[in-house]
Amino acid sequence: MAATDTNSAIVLDRAAAAPQPLIDPFARAITYLRVSVTDRCDFRCVYCMSEHMTFLPKADLLTLEELDRLCSAFIAKGVTKLRLTGGEPLVRRGIMTLVESLSRHLKSGALKELTLTTNGSQLEKYAAQLKDCGVDRINVSIDTLDPDKFRAITRWGDLGKVLAGVDAAQKAGLKVKINAVALKGVNEDELADMTAWANGRGMDLTLIEVMPLGETGESRVDQYLPLSLARARLAERYTLEDIDYRTGGPARYVRVKETGGRLGFITPLTHNFCESCNRVRITCTGTLFMCLGQNDAADLRTPLRASESDVPLYAAIDEAIGRKPKGHDFVIDRQHQRPAVARHMSVTGG
Ligand code: SAM
Ligand code: SF4
Repeated sequence: MAATDTNSAIVLDRAAAAPQPLIDPFARAITYLRVSVTDRCDFRCVYCMSEHMTFLPKADLLTLEELDRLCSAFIAKGVTKLRLTGGEPLVRRGIMTLVESLSRHLKSGALKELTLTTNGSQLEKYAAQLKDCGVDRINVSIDTLDPDKFRAITRWGDLGKVLAGVDAAQKAGLKVKINAVALKGVNEDELADMTAWANGRGMDLTLIEVMPLGETGESRVDQYLPLSLARARLAERYTLEDIDYRTGGPARYVRVKETGGRLGFITPLTHNFCESCNRVRITCTGTLFMCLGQNDAADLRTPLRASESDVPLYAAIDEAIGRKPKGHDFVIDRQHQRPAVARHMSVTGG
């Protein structure tokens, strides 16, 4: 082959290997990646984990460098929003090294948002560092403002520590959104007060329906509170005005006229939000789940480790996105008491 032919072959080869945007079979562009950096946690929330969880052997985990490479491959393929989650992301040793290295994609403009979902237990320690790395907004999960109830829901958590974390985050200049899982007979009578508290501190509150993920040793039927019901009750105290505000996630928001703040609803059961799904999830072992509520998955650890080139990884990601299902089929009722999927939310990443 003449030199010019060889050169054009290389150019063509590179073009073929260039990362292509991620479009699934239903023409949805995948631009949002959620990464579970660890399946471990310092809490044992009753709807998320069983009291005696078995965790993955540490040796199975991707290293922080591998997680960085995996995230960077998705960013090269058009992901613009990245959320670190878990388990509890802030209990993964060295986590700030990953946040810091990923922040280069914010600086380059490839990533629009780097964020995380946390239980807040370690936030006091990390809030300022997160802000320094370009993290602007975080979600903190708090299901109740009653310390005893908080301990009962989380089994191990200390509300005082979490609230100190929220203070530190706001002081550092992070925008904080509070996530609360609506739990029948547990926090349902508190949701109006929590709205006043969160909005009063300039924070949005998002309510989430319990999803049937993993065995927890608790009955989902006993826990499940349809948000249609919660919303009707909140409407007795507040004027809720529908608004268009979106954060790229599945929550639908209303403005609470009396507080001037926002209240979000994530309703996977009463109102399935799959048609606009733009996200996929990877676990700390490099498994890609195309849908939170389905079992199909793709192993990305093998192509990641098989080659220093990202080409096999891009091919594995493309193949998996080509299998992204239309949606989940969550149901919770007396006939459907078993989890829709066996893995826990802490494995896939909430
Ligand atoms: N540990 C962090 C936290 O609690 O924020 C991040 C991971 S946690 C799995 C992410 C979110 O998922 C939390 O807001 C949690 O309340 C929610 N969650 C966990 N299990 C759930 C379930 N079965 N149904 C609905 N939400 C769940
Ligand atoms: Fe831990 Fe978050 Fe699951 Fe609670 S919801 S057990 S804090 S991972």
